[in-house]
Amino acid sequence: MLEIEKLNVRYGGIHAVRDVSLSIARGEIVTLIGANGAGKSSTIRAIMGLVKAASAKMAYTSPRTGQTIPLSGLSADERVKLGIALSPEGRRILPHLTVEENLRLGAYSRSDAAGIAEDMEYGYSLFPRLKERRRQRGGTLSGGEQQMLAVARALMSRPDLLMLDEPSLGLAPILVEEVFGIIRTINAQGRTILLVEQNAFAALKVAHKAYVLETGAVTIQGSGEELLRDPRIREAYLGG
Ligand code: ATP
Repeated sequence: MLEIEKLNVRYGGIHAVRDVSLSIARGEIVTLIGANGAGKSSTIRAIMGLVKAASAKMAYTSPRTGQTIPLSGLSADERVKLGIALSPEGRRILPHLTVEENLRLGAYSRSDAAGIAEDMEYGYSLFPRLKERRRQRGGTLSGGEQQMLAVARALMSRPDLLMLDEPSLGLAPILVEEVFGIIRTINAQGRTILLVEQNAFAALKVAHKAYVLETGAVTIQGSGEELLRDPRIREAYLGG
């Protein structure tokens, strides 16, 4: 579904992503793990078209049409229309808008009112707490609820490929479990997922495939299970 070869992202003198190659098959949960500043967010922001990037290949095959399309040169908006969505790190919900208004923003690329209403109900079914709070301002939600709103909002564009940037960041352990359970559900319902996480253990447990990024480059890759057993991963990311 997504094939990337030699992706590079530079911010002035900082070479944040170095020749990263990765592939995501339809129906998979793929995770990128790594320490702070390893280049995880930069990689998914480059896929979304939110940062300037160079690559030898970045091709997206749409499950809707079967067509393979080079992403470079497309705006973030155009990528959303193709079926790619990002739930960004730090939540980035709009604090003065209500939960419902925030969700509507996620559907800005669409005009099918009935479908939008249906997807809003879908979001509420995944996160019943958001439904109870639908008229509450986003800024008054708890951190965990804002995180849920960010995920539900990304789903409002009806993506085939959903990218999640640190969905468990700052959440209490019980909520981390809930969020990972929902990631599995969303995937089981047919969406392909690219997950960026610092919580390597939780991410590897749900992932079909995983890549470890260190200072901008992929150093280890394999199935989630393989990486959970890998002594290098256990030492560096899973506390031995
Ligand atoms: P974290 O887990 O801390 O979010 P990350 O793996 O997602 O980290 P990135 O956010 O991709 O890492 O950052 C990679 C490197 O690029 C870091 O050194 C960061 O300081 C730098 N960087 C990221 N965004 C910018 C920017 N807009 N301008 C300059 N440098 C940036």
